[in-house]
Amino acid sequence: MGLSSRLTRLSVLLPRPFDAAFTYETESALPPGTLVRVPLGPREVVGVVWDEPPDDMRPAKSVVAILEVPPLPVALMAFIDWVAAYTLARRGDVLALAVKESLLAARVRRGKKIDFSGADASFAPPDLSAAQAHAATMLVDAVRRHAFSVTLLDGVTGSGKTEVYLEAVAQALRERRQAVVLLPEIALSVQLIDRFTRRFGVAPAVWHSELTPALRRETFRAVAKGDVDVVVGARSALFLPFPDLGLVVVDEEHEAAFKQEDGVIYHARDMAVVRARLSGAACVLASATPSLESVENAARGRYARLDLPARHGGALLPQIQAVDLRAHPPERGKFISPVVLGGVRAALARGEQAMLFLNRRGYAPLTLCRHCGHRMSCPNCTAWLVEHRTRARLICHHCDYGAALPPKCPACEAEQSFVPIGPGVERIAEEVAWVFPTARTLVMTSDAITGPKQAQAAAAAILAGDVDVIIGTQMVAKGWHFPKLTMVGVVDADLGLGGGDLRAGERTVQLLHQVAGRAGRAAVPGQVMVQSYVPEHPVIAAVLSGNLPEFLVQEAAQRQPGHWPPYGRLVALIVSAADERQADAVARALSRSAPYIKGVDILGPAPAPFALLRGRFRKRLLLKADRQVAVQEITRAWLARTDIPRMVRVDVDVDPVSFM
Ligand code: ADP
Ligand code: ZN
Repeated sequence: MGLSSRLTRLSVLLPRPFDAAFTYETESALPPGTLVRVPLGPREVVGVVWDEPPDDMRPAKSVVAILEVPPLPVALMAFIDWVAAYTLARRGDVLALAVKESLLAARVRRGKKIDFSGADASFAPPDLSAAQAHAATMLVDAVRRHAFSVTLLDGVTGSGKTEVYLEAVAQALRERRQAVVLLPEIALSVQLIDRFTRRFGVAPAVWHSELTPALRRETFRAVAKGDVDVVVGARSALFLPFPDLGLVVVDEEHEAAFKQEDGVIYHARDMAVVRARLSGAACVLASATPSLESVENAARGRYARLDLPARHGGALLPQIQAVDLRAHPPERGKFISPVVLGGVRAALARGEQAMLFLNRRGYAPLTLCRHCGHRMSCPNCTAWLVEHRTRARLICHHCDYGAALPPKCPACEAEQSFVPIGPGVERIAEEVAWVFPTARTLVMTSDAITGPKQAQAAAAAILAGDVDVIIGTQMVAKGWHFPKLTMVGVVDADLGLGGGDLRAGERTVQLLHQVAGRAGRAAVPGQVMVQSYVPEHPVIAAVLSGNLPEFLVQEAAQRQPGHWPPYGRLVALIVSAADERQADAVARALSRSAPYIKGVDILGPAPAPFALLRGRFRKRLLLKADRQVAVQEITRAWLARTDIPRMVRVDVDVDPVSFM
């Protein structure tokens, strides 16, 4: 009795699927953020002392040990609470994005200690143009203020946005605060690390899923101790325990890849702004094709806005022309128009490089039996199987199901009756090899470029001039700077136009504009040819004119009347179950218990476009609300009053980007 009266109770949040913190006892109080080892059932797990009142009523177990890691910073804990509240995720699941058992394991062996420090703000400052210098000064001032701000850095491709935001990084270094730069794709870190090193004398720390466990652990510890100045990373870098974060940069802020679609469903661009706010930091959103969301926020004065209207060093923006496939069709069974082949031929003759862009992996998106018309589809998903000829397999791009092409059609048993329909990048590479047998080609897709190492090798080969024609998916579209690349051909500009996706048009314009932006970034002007069957379509017209502000005005005019984002809010509920009837029943129950509130509409339930995905049947509901409606509260109450059996999952997607 005497002993227990001396014990202190505290709340500990566990990086596990619980929303609530647990109560434990210790001999003396521990500051919030302290990492501790505690019993959970038969096991011991790591947790974090959370700044909220413990439960005084129930018996509590004792903290087993205190870990020798600096406490999580208060700003990070506030961020975790905020993200959970906004996305309706359990707090423990969000904490797991920041703290994992594997990050805290004691050192395996004493490896070579990595030195993450030493970035020197005055190592090699650039000689900025007047427009760049103005933008850099504004960002430097924002960092110097030690206060929250958001700036949209809107500059045409090749205008020096990277160069400019690196000056903001330099200021964070001078202030002895940390900076984080988020990239939508790990492959892009290769060129940024290079430029960073030239600017600051050392490489930044990097953070993404491809790091070895040892390097992850070292990096996490070094960040926690304040030994890391700058991190370049994927969206999860937002959850690192920076002691005093002064700058958050989101490069290519328009990218849908910043939306995490599994587990905790969050948009890293939006959460980056929150992270900056809670840390009193400056946030920079950079893009040549900013999202309507960010443009609108700038227009309303919530964000500052900086423009870089011209390419660096007098480089011209590329000439973009449509190739009307009705007038200039490819040869039968081929996919590249003679006009585009002519452009490639001319670039190669000048000793320059060409790029062909098609946002489709594999050889052919559809395989069918020429006898009975049977289409090869995935047994687990509402999707066709995609032929990957290099691997001699049909693959599902959604669940990774794979199978060899069967010798007979499963429907009519005809032999050798399969034909590939439509092109993927492998088929385009084959066509290039036929037409230009001596050209050196490189295919860049997520199948070939699986990590930063492969990206590095590909970029090096292109820069060294060892590649004549690059053929790639969206992976080649953004960020890259290849001075010898002067000709870009878009194989199928119409690909993204179909479907009822809210942002299909916006995304297509952004993607194609970015692809076009790879051409002619140095001395030789670039040329872009866009193959389309509907060049008069407003989206294709916007790509051709390059007038993105005008396109966004049209987009805004379409979305505003119906209160579609960013002029209203959406929350998607995705109901899924292995048993179709169970999914149906819950979808109907949700429909019956739906909120009936002014300014809120419920759309659905409807079968999801992927009505079957990874073996689960799916229904979707969409809550659509006016901007000022507190959608989280409404959704939470809605779910709470609906009976959802354990076999059925309801994923909540606040601000959905994908409607599949
Ligand atoms: P963006 O990020 O806007 O696409 P970058 O920052 O990649 O543009 O700049 C394009 C190219 O021009 C890069 O190779 C970059 O190093 C170069 N560059 C831009 N501004 C300058 C400058 N002021 N001095 C030297 N090189 C520059
Ligand atoms: Zn599948």
